[in-house]
Amino acid sequence: MPTTRKAAFAGSRRSATEAIEAQVQGGELYHVTLLIDGNELIPECTCPWFLDNDEECKHIWAVIRAASARRMLPERPLFLASDETLTAALRRRR
Ligand SMILES: [Zn+2]
Repeated sequence: MPTTRKAAFAGSRRSATEAIEAQVQGGELYHVTLLIDGNELIPECTCPWFLDNDEECKHIWAVIRAASARRMLPERPLFLASDETLTAALRRRR
């Protein structure tokens, strides 16, 4: 049986970039940020799997689905950031 995950949203806006931040309750509480830069969606998660793999984890997909259902995503086509963008974003943060 899958664990129930709750996503608590704290909407925030940065000047040029839009950001959706959410806490996702998995085994632990993880912090997911979806940065929306133009048409590009740059996801970040604090879970070990994401940090190890530089790939979208289940928490990120949960937040994307929940944000979409709540119409928190911009009404324009969005593209997931390429692996290179994602890796570069992670490097900046480390
Ligand atoms: Zn995660």
